[in-house]
Amino acid sequence: MKKNPQTELIHAPRKAPQYISTVQPPLFRASTIIFENTNALFDRHWTDDYDYSYGTHGTPTTFTLGDQIAQIEGGLHHLLAPSGLSAINLVNSCFLSHGDEVWVADNIYGPNMEHLRNLEKRYGIVVQVYNPIDVDTFTPSINAKLIWLEAAGSVTLEFPDLIGLVQKAQAHNMLTALDNTWGAGLAFNAFDFGIEHLSVDISVHALTKYPSGGGDILMGSVVTRDKKLHHKLFRTHAIQGISISGDDAAQVQRSLASMRLRYEHQSQSALQLLQWLKQQTAFVQVLHPADESSAGHTYWKDICTEQHSAGLVSVVFDPKYDVQDIRSFCDALKLFKLGFSWGGPVSLVMLYNLKDMRVLEHSHIKAGLLVRFCIGLEHPADLIQDIENALQHLNKRSLK
Ligand SMILES: *Cc1c(COP(=O)(O)O)cnc(C)c1O
Repeated sequence: MKKNPQTELIHAPRKAPQYISTVQPPLFRASTIIFENTNALFDRHWTDDYDYSYGTHGTPTTFTLGDQIAQIEGGLHHLLAPSGLSAINLVNSCFLSHGDEVWVADNIYGPNMEHLRNLEKRYGIVVQVYNPIDVDTFTPSINAKLIWLEAAGSVTLEFPDLIGLVQKAQAHNMLTALDNTWGAGLAFNAFDFGIEHLSVDISVHALTKYPSGGGDILMGSVVTRDKKLHHKLFRTHAIQGISISGDDAAQVQRSLASMRLRYEHQSQSALQLLQWLKQQTAFVQVLHPADESSAGHTYWKDICTEQHSAGLVSVVFDPKYDVQDIRSFCDALKLFKLGFSWGGPVSLVMLYNLKDMRVLEHSHIKAGLLVRFCIGLEHPADLIQDIENALQHLNKRSLK
């Protein structure tokens, strides 16, 4: 029967033939997912984590990405969230209730700490802070429920005693959640430390960083190996309406093919910069887990290799430089752009004042203002030249 042209516009999709095959998988965009008939509708298990029912629960596009992230990280089950922070919040809101104690490293990703402090104030969760390189500062009480781990830690890049911390948490029947953004599943396997039964329970990953690799897409993941834990997370994910765009998922999935190569390249570039930065008199300390003088270096060495040491390196400026000096240094950089995040093609710089960021004493970091470099895909020689020019600018300025 001939239909009205308006109806034809809506109901005349060309179906792809069965035999067609493309390099990238087809992209599904969906809020509605169409059931073949009422049997299919009523046979569907609404609590089945990987069944198709509605866009928020996932499509072949988002499940493909999730499967691959879980595989890279050594996990089995996955959930995706619209940002790394949203993935962190999913874990916190799923497992923490009134009276529960949560342990966080002093160098934890700042917004995670902020989120937990908010939960503490509003819902009576107790936040405790430990020193990531000193297991003895982690003293869980009977109410301890969850510990957040991060390797290496944000900004100051201490590598924690992951194995010691996980062992202690397990002995106290606590859940262990790792912010795995730095290692990206490539630097080490958080679900298998090579010691029997030693594994984190939950790995959270800001896919915004290395998996996206473009500096243009926000996304996060929560990976587990335990079916029960995953199912609890899945229910929270569902009732909170957390979902991601199919287009974004397809973009990140497309970038996964080159992730390991980019990660290794950025690791190598960061190591080259590290060697050069250490020779500069403007810095009193250079922070990178592969450097012997960095806190937690031996823990890094136990489970990582130089090939996979990520593209982040921080420097502490000589205290003779004040905030205005450091600002002018950052402004004088041309290739390093001033911005948050990392893992993209463009190198980034950010300045920090640790005084406002740490709860515990941190005598392993020298006094002075701190700058973090995130190494992109530019040639390292050009990046070194860029920093050298900015240092010359800084020294001319401080002579005035
Ligand atoms: C960027 C980042 C996050 C948050 O990811 P967003 O997608 O930006 O919300 C979490 N943890 C770490 C370590 C990060 O670097």
